[in-house]
Amino acid sequence: MSDAYGDRGNKDVSIGNPKGMGSVMPKSTGKSFDAPGGPFLIGDSMTAGYGNGPDILHDCTISVEKGEIAVIVGPNGAGKSTGMKAVFGMLDMRKGHVRLDGEDITNLSPQDRVAKGMGFVPQTSNIFTSMTVEENLEMGAFIRRDDFRDTLAQVYDLFPILKDKRFQAAGELSGGQRQQVAVGRALMTQPKVLMLDEPTAGVSPIVMDELFDRIIEVARTGIPILMVEQNARQALEIADKGFVLVQGANAFTGTGKELLADPEVRKSFLGG
Ligand code: ADP
Repeated sequence: MSDAYGDRGNKDVSIGNPKGMGSVMPKSTGKSFDAPGGPFLIGDSMTAGYGNGPDILHDCTISVEKGEIAVIVGPNGAGKSTGMKAVFGMLDMRKGHVRLDGEDITNLSPQDRVAKGMGFVPQTSNIFTSMTVEENLEMGAFIRRDDFRDTLAQVYDLFPILKDKRFQAAGELSGGQRQQVAVGRALMTQPKVLMLDEPTAGVSPIVMDELFDRIIEVARTGIPILMVEQNARQALEIADKGFVLVQGANAFTGTGKELLADPEVRKSFLGG
């Protein structure tokens, strides 16, 4: 983990589960074979599009290593969300592979990927607004057959405001608090890796900073994080690795620091 996290946040490592969903065996619907080595989670050389439509991703690679935060930035419509959906199995890949911990999961359904240890927080509709905060978190544990009360307590430790509001309808919460519910819900499966699609969309700068702090705390529990962010500069500041996408392809890749210092990246994507 890089120095970028400083001393912020707590250092509880108990919520992470290095073995992922140890108690639930995924129902495999596709071919799956081992391909050891490489990053912990990688969408490798992905070419993909929606339905019968044109390719949106062109030989695009995004990945995250154990213990790291990786961010995907780039202009609107660059294919950032599409890349996340491809890694999570929500659209057909025309070329390329997705590997988790060395295993090729390209042909698995999203449900099977969750069972393998992937947590995904989509950009919208990521909570049940009419249910309470606690019911949302309990729903997150839907694939678990074991006692998840400890995980619930750990989520409340990470997001104390959610404990205070646990009996309130999630739809009554502020934007930033709703995002905490969405992340908390994903954590209830004890994921091996967490994917966040624009966790700070539509929140104020202050709330954004707080959400980033919470995300750093989650990373510090041992869960690698792959996230899409509109706020490129702030995201790269907390990123171990950054991917700049343009028109569905990799334009620049480097550490957060390298990208922040790159004159071309600065000029084109960070406002100078
Ligand atoms: P970003 O997340 O970088 O803003 P997206 O991945 O949302 O970009 O979009 C990339 C391209 O894919 C855009 O041209 C968009 O119109 C197209 N697109 C996104 N979602 C869909 C969809 N559900 N069906 C068809 N095209 C889509």
